[in-house]
Amino acid sequence: MPKFYVVATPIGNMGDITLRAIETLKSVDMILCEDTRETKKILDKYNINKPTMSYHAQSKLSKTDKIFELLEEGKDLALVSDAGTPGISDPGALLVSKIKEHLSHGVDVIPIPGPSAVITALSASGLPIHEFTFLGFLPHKKGRETLFKEIAQAKRTMVFYESPHRILKTLESLVKFCPNKKVCVARELTKIYEEFKTGTPEEIFEYFKPKADQPLAGNKKIRGEFTVIVA
Ligand code: SAM
Repeated sequence: MPKFYVVATPIGNMGDITLRAIETLKSVDMILCEDTRETKKILDKYNINKPTMSYHAQSKLSKTDKIFELLEEGKDLALVSDAGTPGISDPGALLVSKIKEHLSHGVDVIPIPGPSAVITALSASGLPIHEFTFLGFLPHKKGRETLFKEIAQAKRTMVFYESPHRILKTLESLVKFCPNKKVCVARELTKIYEEFKTGTPEEIFEYFKPKADQPLAGNKKIRGEFTVIVA
């Protein structure tokens, strides 16, 4: 029976890949990637020479048909995203669901677990993590304020992803709507400038604000990838 592997890859540090992920990527007939240039870095590092095909959120239906065709021909495929676990705020979840629906008796869908920023951030945050809610990326407009009000009322720890362009705006909203919560910002996990900053929304906002004022290549901005935990 053909196999469709969902393979987690590093979220920064290239060493964070499992032996099983490497073996799997070496064994399949084709690797589906979000961005073939990004995935090439990891394939080159581990001497994996396999054909790649791009698959992302905007991929046309014909791409899905091509994937079905390959599986029906008995080919084994692996799906990776640019970083972390496919499907977690990344393309892939819909594809996995379609494969399970359409080829339910003919394909084995096999997860190859590994890094994900949400779990990595929670594990070293020091905040209560026995129960949590993952929100993915927050909406930019519609429903945003309501969501912050929900976060303020939440009994469980909340965790979400944020971009460097929006982190200050989000921290500002936390100051406004959730002043009594504790926030942990996990930045650049597994990379050289990894940083965990924990405090009240106000303290965290005051910490990151001056960084936004420092010029970087002519622009004022904050760098890095961010995962935010609110407890
Ligand atoms: N699939 C990935 C996973 O399993 O973590 C998430 C992909 S999502 C498109 C990218 C977002 O994840 C980033 O904008 C950031 O919020 C978070 N993220 C990814 N890598 C990170 C890192 N090294 N440190 C902190 N957050 C990270």
